[in-house]
Amino acid sequence: MLENWDVVVVGGGPAGAAAAIRAKQLRPDARVLLADKADFPRDKACGDGIAAHGREELALLGVPGLIDDYRPARGLSVVSPGGARVTAAVARPNHVVPRTVFDARLVDAARARGVEVRRHRVRALTLHDDHVVLDGALSARTVVAADGANSAVRRLIGVPPAPDRHTAIAVRGYADVPADDDVQFIAMQKDGWPAYAWSFPVGDGTANVGFGMMLPRLRATGRPGREVLHGRLAELLPDLPTRDLRAHHLPLSPGRPRPGAGRVLLAGDAASLINPLTGEGIYYALLSGRLAGEAAAEAGADPLAAYRRKLRGALGRHLRTTDVLARAAQSPGFIDAAIATAARHKEVFDLLVDVGLGAGTVPAPIALTVARRWLWNGLRRG
Ligand SMILES: Cc1cc2nc3c(=O)[nH]c(=O)nc-3n(C[C@H](O)[C@H](O)[C@H](O)COP(=O)(O)OP(=O)(O)OC[C@H]3O[C@@H](n4cnc5c(N)ncnc54)[C@H](O)[C@@H]3O)c2cc1C
Repeated sequence: MLENWDVVVVGGGPAGAAAAIRAKQLRPDARVLLADKADFPRDKACGDGIAAHGREELALLGVPGLIDDYRPARGLSVVSPGGARVTAAVARPNHVVPRTVFDARLVDAARARGVEVRRHRVRALTLHDDHVVLDGALSARTVVAADGANSAVRRLIGVPPAPDRHTAIAVRGYADVPADDDVQFIAMQKDGWPAYAWSFPVGDGTANVGFGMMLPRLRATGRPGREVLHGRLAELLPDLPTRDLRAHHLPLSPGRPRPGAGRVLLAGDAASLINPLTGEGIYYALLSGRLAGEAAAEAGADPLAAYRRKLRGALGRHLRTTDVLARAAQSPGFIDAAIATAARHKEVFDLLVDVGLGAGTVPAPIALTVARRWLWNGLRRG
């Protein structure tokens, strides 16, 4: 016996919850199932940083106050690999909310809107012209695959996993910090570049701290991943004992695949939607999940074509921008020039935040200013 659903969403992280909520918003009568292999609340390795852009997505999903009880973080300080530093107030505050809390609240919001939430690990899938069957038991008109960086559904529909050269790996932990510390700190690392460490105060006397680097760089050390990541974090924060260490892969957007096959739509990390400059993925997850939920709710003959159009409209130019910037950023000198320029010009700082945490693009005059400084620094060094 097959259970029939209009939409089955696989994975209850921000991408999956957003998809389920949006499908129900647009079609309250639709039968929507949210299936996750874990019960909520559950932990997820993450820096817990939720950009202002992500809060805009929460408003679109009808849950504008979801994280209002968390303190806004107005300061951001970034040190480039070569030691250029910028510290400034962000135009719109970011938030830091542990994922055990954030994800569970989103899943509760989905449930409150009539989404059925069920513990279920998807292991098998069959594509048909007008429906999809999961595990021989669930039949859906459309499936939204939001099952994260190691997406089983992505593999089952024949979309290859993210290539190593476009995959990062990061470890996060929690540490005690002064309760009034409200500056998000990012220290880029020359050693093993591209790599960076962060400290994101939550606002309750703790901070999410972590360290991330590209997967091929980690493999090249020839040492166990855990030893390298934990060791680097301890080196960087020698006076700050960290607890609850947990690591995970980050499939970066330059390695993004086609976002689905047949009536299966990939969203969030399953679609390799993580910003290659900052590791930001929650905003992209909420946005792509919302758009996948829309395409699924419309229930047209070709939901994948509709989803691709929506994604292109929302993120196309931005993703092409970050593809180019990620290539330029292979040279630490480029990032040094960008951070040094941001330290002098607040509009460049705001723009970098928008590109790194939102859907911003770079106007030609600003690209030229940074390129000139990069060239000038290079010539001086030469
Ligand atoms: C260390 C680290 C730090 C990061 N810091 C930040 C940050 O500060 N800010 C930011 O914006 N982004 C950050 N990111 C990226 C961010 O965590 C991800 O982009 C985000 O979690 C993506 O959300 P998602 O919903 O696509 O996937 P996930 O949050 O990974 O959710 C996937 C869900 O799918 C479920 N699932 C998996 N397989 C199955 C299956 N077969 N069947 C059913 N369910 C399944 C899982 O249980 C999980 O609940 C960080 C990532 C890492 C690793």
